[in-house]
Amino acid sequence: MTDMDQALASLKQYFGYESFRPGQAGLVEAILSGRDCLGVMPTGAGKSICYQIPATILDGVTIVISPLVSLMRDQVDSLEDAGIRAGFVNSTQSPDEQGMVLAQAARGECKLLYVAPERLNAPRFLDFAQRVNIALLAVDEAHCVSQWGQDFRPAYLGIGDFIESLPARPRVAAFTATATEQVRRDIVKMLRLSDPYLAVTGFDRPNLFFDVVKLETKAKNAWVCSYAKDHQDESGIVYCATRKETEALAQALVRHGVTATNYHGGLSPDQRDKAQAEFVNDEVQVVVATNAFGMGIDKSNVRYVIHHNMPESIEAYYQEAGRAGRDGEPARCTLLWNESDIVTRRRLLDLDSGNDRLSGPEAEAVRAGHRRLLNTMIGYCRTTSCLHEYMLHYFGEEVDHAAADVSPAAADGPQEAGADQKSGQRGCGNCSNCLSTFSTIDVSDLARAISRCVHDVGQRFGSGKIVQVLAGSKSQDLLSRGLDRCPSYGALEGVSPARVRDVVNQMASDGYLTITEGRLPLVQFGPKAGLTVSPDFHYEMKQVQRKRLTVAPPD
Ligand code: ADP
Repeated sequence: MTDMDQALASLKQYFGYESFRPGQAGLVEAILSGRDCLGVMPTGAGKSICYQIPATILDGVTIVISPLVSLMRDQVDSLEDAGIRAGFVNSTQSPDEQGMVLAQAARGECKLLYVAPERLNAPRFLDFAQRVNIALLAVDEAHCVSQWGQDFRPAYLGIGDFIESLPARPRVAAFTATATEQVRRDIVKMLRLSDPYLAVTGFDRPNLFFDVVKLETKAKNAWVCSYAKDHQDESGIVYCATRKETEALAQALVRHGVTATNYHGGLSPDQRDKAQAEFVNDEVQVVVATNAFGMGIDKSNVRYVIHHNMPESIEAYYQEAGRAGRDGEPARCTLLWNESDIVTRRRLLDLDSGNDRLSGPEAEAVRAGHRRLLNTMIGYCRTTSCLHEYMLHYFGEEVDHAAADVSPAAADGPQEAGADQKSGQRGCGNCSNCLSTFSTIDVSDLARAISRCVHDVGQRFGSGKIVQVLAGSKSQDLLSRGLDRCPSYGALEGVSPARVRDVVNQMASDGYLTITEGRLPLVQFGPKAGLTVSPDFHYEMKQVQRKRLTVAPPD
């Protein structure tokens, strides 16, 4: 019987499954052959089985390092139910209980032993680790080792030393759902993985229709209400950035005749349980929630997830949006955003101390990491190429959509004069970009005027003031500062303020301007500022020309 025959037999015997999911077999095989490995898969894809199956086959104990103390008991209970001997040692137990579990494991009565990373410093555990045969060290949520990710946990940094202190080096298998290149490199480096087998899979969710809609803040509630009203027989989750927004939007939905409730961390446990139960049992159609909602929610028929605001990272977005369509049926994930969301996010990020346990340069490194995550999220909002591809590419997974050019709209409609029309370049056929046509408009004059205005006001004001000055606003604050006397005052009178703000933000992301990252962000010149005064300066902005599909995902 080969290793993999044995693995399949274990899969069937203990878990009742006939076959491995994508990515699992490769990881199991690598572990059984003695290799280190790194598995990158989204939540729910089945990472646990990748180390649990080898644990049932290998001689010795598998130590599982997991940050989630609260879940250890459940994990161990379900393994025991499946007939696999398992235990955990953590701070919820008395020293006697801990001693008992370690003694059992030392006698070989435990195939898997779950511990939190902090345990690796406990003398009693270290003593145990010196005496037993550790077949495999599985590191769950391995991104916690990286300061570039969202969930840095300093105790993870001790894992590398722990491994080296062992009399015989076990194979080490690391798992995470976070996949930025930087985090992945950190995992390999900090855990000192040796030539690890890498598997990145399971991120594609072909039944999800991804949709990005740029909307002014004040139009968002109406959009959500109208969508929910048009989909009265469907379950949906709407994620908002603040508790207050969840309340206001849930009330607005109810006024529109949609059954809705709201959910956030400020509610009492009873209220939260009630809201969750109502949603799960289909007593209310929509739950409007902060990101506190969703962990452990098992509702397969969520037909849409709307984000009322841009999340802080693609990981966060994908996890929340991914709660739609768990049953494999078509579902829609819509992200409503605008440029001021970006400014707010950047500001929040700056106010956030990063990580309470860190200070000085380390805290700055964490913040820089968060900024990078945010920038990829912004990229998702702004990209005109396939949204499925953008995400899969982000997660490092191979993309396998037919490379067909889908420009169904381009052939059958009038073109805006001078507009260069493009469709999404590749065709997943299941995202708003692949079903839209984009046009580019010339905003060179606007960009020049903005640049001049930033100069006129001495780089001392934020984008709100710049927009007001260019519009020739009569606001008291502006007049009292004498800004009506600067040469750019009124230079873009008649141009919509939203358009000017968009161009300011695009110039900032293209390096013509920078927006300082303080409490009151100022618009200043960026590294490419000088180019705007060149006679050859030409600047364009992309626009969604026409949506082929604005309401329902295709069947
Ligand atoms: P993750 O750790 O990646 O979040 P889990 O390991 O908790 O995911 O697995 C999610 C679910 O998928 C579990 O209910 C698990 O039993 C199930 N699962 C895992 N592998 C398979 C498989 N090969 N076939 C069917 N179901 C599977």
